[in-house]
Amino acid sequence: MYANIIIDISHEKLDKTFQYRIPPELEDQIQAGTQVEIPFGAGNRLRKGYVVGLTEKEEFDKERIKPVAGVVAGSVTAESQLIQLAWWMKERYGSTMNQALKTVLPVKQKVKQKQARFIRRLLTREETLEAAREAGRKHYKARERLLLALADGMEIPWQVAMDQMNLSPATLKPMAEKGLIALVSETVFRNPRIQGDAAAGDISLNQEQSRIAAEFRDRYDKGIREKALVYGVTGSGKTEVYMEMISHVLQKGRQVIVLIPEIALTYQTVMRFYSRFGGLVSIINSRMSAGERYDQFERARSGEARIMIGPRSALFTPFSDLGLIIIDEEHETAYKSEISPRYHARETAEHLAEMNDAALVLGSATPSLEAYSRALRGEYGMYQLTKRAKEASRMANVQVIDLREELKSGNRSIFSRGLQEAMTKRLERGQQTMLFMNRRGYASFVSCRSCGEAIRCPHCDVTLTLHFGQKLVCHYCGYEVKTPNLCPSCGSPYIAGFGTGTQKIEEMTKRMFPQARVLRMDMDTTSKKGGHQEILSAFADGRADILIGTQMIVKGHDFPNVTLVGVLAADLSLYTSDFRCGERTFQLLTQAAGRAGRGELQGEVLIQTYNPEHYSIQCAASQDYESFYAKEMVYRDMLRYPPSCQMMAVLASCPQEETLETAMTDLNKWAMEAGKGQAVQIIGPAQATIYKVNDIYRKILYLKDENYDILIKLKNHMDDNSRQASWHGHVAVQYDFA
Ligand code: ADP
Ligand code: ZN
Ligand code: ZN
Repeated sequence: MYANIIIDISHEKLDKTFQYRIPPELEDQIQAGTQVEIPFGAGNRLRKGYVVGLTEKEEFDKERIKPVAGVVAGSVTAESQLIQLAWWMKERYGSTMNQALKTVLPVKQKVKQKQARFIRRLLTREETLEAAREAGRKHYKARERLLLALADGMEIPWQVAMDQMNLSPATLKPMAEKGLIALVSETVFRNPRIQGDAAAGDISLNQEQSRIAAEFRDRYDKGIREKALVYGVTGSGKTEVYMEMISHVLQKGRQVIVLIPEIALTYQTVMRFYSRFGGLVSIINSRMSAGERYDQFERARSGEARIMIGPRSALFTPFSDLGLIIIDEEHETAYKSEISPRYHARETAEHLAEMNDAALVLGSATPSLEAYSRALRGEYGMYQLTKRAKEASRMANVQVIDLREELKSGNRSIFSRGLQEAMTKRLERGQQTMLFMNRRGYASFVSCRSCGEAIRCPHCDVTLTLHFGQKLVCHYCGYEVKTPNLCPSCGSPYIAGFGTGTQKIEEMTKRMFPQARVLRMDMDTTSKKGGHQEILSAFADGRADILIGTQMIVKGHDFPNVTLVGVLAADLSLYTSDFRCGERTFQLLTQAAGRAGRGELQGEVLIQTYNPEHYSIQCAASQDYESFYAKEMVYRDMLRYPPSCQMMAVLASCPQEETLETAMTDLNKWAMEAGKGQAVQIIGPAQATIYKVNDIYRKILYLKDENYDILIKLKNHMDDNSRQASWHGHVAVQYDFA
């Protein structure tokens, strides 16, 4: 046996492995991640390195391969753990070791120390609150927001104020001049810090919450490291429960990772963790540079930070004694990586928790079918929170509107009569409305009324999307053309845009409600830096009556003055090619419904649909997760989709169609070979939903089996064989577990 070893763990040097022989007496002590001592260079000086792979094949002359000198005794380092995790990911998800290592190891980058800037309050808490009230009276909403936040703490990092509180430098300057606040900078780790007075906003847990916290503590103390699902309606106080759990694990001297989808990592959420745990908290997000992330990971390594909050990559925090992983909104699609290794954070966290003897807690109001079925089977513990934590906030009143009926009675507009009426009422009362389109990219395309052809991308298998009525853009490869005046197929001048993009909805809203101030939030309006913040703060400040948008607007934002949420076409997400589309629809509608009535005012939700009887829509309207789960499971069982069955997609792509054909035939053959005598179901090969992207053709093969290990065996067999194939290097093959 040989070990491939890296000496310098940095992204540039990951390819640089050295091969050593494993002496028989060390064989059972060495695996991926083990730290070893090896004789290095001409002088054979002993150096430390990490094993990143084991192999029986020597890479060069057998005689010249030196033996490993020994295993480094003592505590396991964080790197060692991460490399071990990378090995597991490579095996489990089918990537190269290099891709896996690049995913788990932070990019080491020397960046010059940045000046950390803070906004600090200069007045007492009472005075600050008074100033906030005054700002409120004058309708200086941004100023009010900042002062309220400062009343809770002492200082707020500049970045948090800009990114999460939607403030602008123009707001701060006059406040500093008036002596309300000071802008200070310190040369410190680039960590957003807040010193909270813990007393402010102290919450005592309600009965349901305390019971969960107590049970968790009890089991943790008994050494039981459970995996549990906290299933609680939106606003039921899950975050408070997480904080109790975190506090307990910190007391044991251990560390905690909290995953929160980026879209939900709003200022309010961040502040709650800061005001409870102060400088022990570190946060990473995707807007940070590699260097900034590296600094946060260094704070974790040094022990300064003991709670890491972030998106799925926060799993790879180099903690020395990880005791708890929390995944909030565990059903979110963002927890699955779309690049190799295509890992799912839930499974990876499960493995990581086992490696570290840590507990795993998942939370959601609409759990994934995977998590809920495990909880029902008893593989996960289940904790329930059945009611909203705040007395005042009631669940919104949800109603489904049948668009077919509207059409029958001659209403051709995108607004049903019910929705028009409800919106008019909100405008009269000075309350706000959110209009939600539940599918991104459902934008208008251009087609010809004479020949029926839609204008398509020459490089991809999709129609081009109309932007601002002037140009056509491909959302897959970026190709752009000026909108033609004549049909490119038949020359007819009768070509026109179809479909209802958010932009079109904005136009129609303005036409229907000329008095309303309308904002739109989608890929177009948020692509410029800060665009996202500007829109949200304008809406939060009451500078608009109606906010139109996609998924982006339904997550994590609390707008107390929103009393109406209209879902324009709930079915749009029902008919995608993904077997999870019913689940997504249910989740999105439930989340959208959760946006209305967050404040004292009763909220109303109107769901417009052509399929009012579909169970995803019905169950979302009645906020009935259990019924949805039961119905959806029948479908998954019948068609053998996860979680009833395990499923793996083999996606192959190549610019030459014939080569792709050959590769697909081979892969199919190998799958059948390895699956012989097993119950594996093989579907395909077939063209991918979008067959051509950027002039590259794509085909797909689906394999289903109840047993995960069988699929992994098939994957390995296909992978080994494709290395010898004539098309190796020409066809890219990726494995994707659903
Ligand atoms: P979830 O994470 O389940 O959506 P949160 O933890 O965000 O719920 O709680 C929703 C709101 O209720 C927050 O404003 C929170 O401060 C408040 N809250 C939570 N628990 C309590 C409690 N025990 N008493 C009063 N308010 C609470
Ligand atoms: Zn035509
Ligand atoms: Zn294209």
